[in-house]
Amino acid sequence: MMARTSDIGRAAGILRAGGLVAVPTETVYGLGANAEDPAAVARVFQVKGRPPTHPLIVHLAAAEQLGDWVADVPDTALALAGHFWPGPLTLVLRRGRRVPLEATGGLETVAVRVPAHPVALELLSAFGGGVAAPSANRFGSVSPTTADHVRAELGDAVDFVLDGGPCDVGVESTIVDATGGTPSILRPGGVTPEDLEAVLGRPVAAGSPNHIRVPGQHPSHYAPRARVVLVDPLEIATEAQAAQERGHRVGVFLPPACADVPVKAHAVVTVPESMADYARGLYGFLRELDQLGCDLIVASLPVEQGLGVAIANRLRRAAGPR
Ligand code: AMP
Ligand code: MG
Repeated sequence: MMARTSDIGRAAGILRAGGLVAVPTETVYGLGANAEDPAAVARVFQVKGRPPTHPLIVHLAAAEQLGDWVADVPDTALALAGHFWPGPLTLVLRRGRRVPLEATGGLETVAVRVPAHPVALELLSAFGGGVAAPSANRFGSVSPTTADHVRAELGDAVDFVLDGGPCDVGVESTIVDATGGTPSILRPGGVTPEDLEAVLGRPVAAGSPNHIRVPGQHPSHYAPRARVVLVDPLEIATEAQAAQERGHRVGVFLPPACADVPVKAHAVVTVPESMADYARGLYGFLRELDQLGCDLIVASLPVEQGLGVAIANRLRRAAGPR
């Protein structure tokens, strides 16, 4: 059920009292704490089982608050915030004094964003401060895109789950290092490289030319219980059948172009043709195949354009060495 006004008030009270609230955003559900409360932030790490060196994203109600939370706002950061906020873009900037080192994993930079979800924005306004939140899942596993996913994964470890319905984007935000003169993409996500380039008027590099540490970018992340193998789309059916014959319970991500190909597997998800639909459904599909008891998922990468870049990034890491 969707959150009501009374739920927003309750959630804001829990944040003020040092508690944890699961917050719906347009990307995925976050596990939120008062960003200025080191003890509450420490509990986020504990609940997730996340190493304390992996920084959290500080969520704000409006771009106008940016100056309170970061030490310096370069023009490019201002332009990006002006264009993409509220939205699935996270900016890494120099840490302001309001942000405790607990929230940044000890870094002198901080990741900030204004989410585009009415419930998140209402909560952030009612609370008034910054909400530090990673995705509301155990470390390394698939991010939650519904309130039920959060409840199933975190149960009583979270004080309150605000239900905002299913997430519209479905993959995490794009993280851009905007500390230096040349912005770069630290993690692909809901804002596409093409969109960024259109606003900046120049190509945007992936990686970290400013040599800042990029914690939390492990090869294995966003992973279901089932092992994930990536193959050429033309090999999906043979690969699935061979694994099934070796005794695996195989789940298949069938590309739309192969929708008519007969596949012998335990469960088959036909991947949506639209990249927006694929991103929205991605984590739910992985959870579904886990729930159906699959121990191996055979998938292939989408074309790496637009949202396909973020989807391919998550699939590669879901398939990464455990
Ligand atoms: P999550 O979306 O749950 O993985 O959490 C936020 C991610 O943001 C982290 O895993 C980091 O990769 C990234 N991040 C947060 N703060 C910073 C920072 N100051 N510098 C670089 N990356 C960051
Ligand atoms: Mg995460």
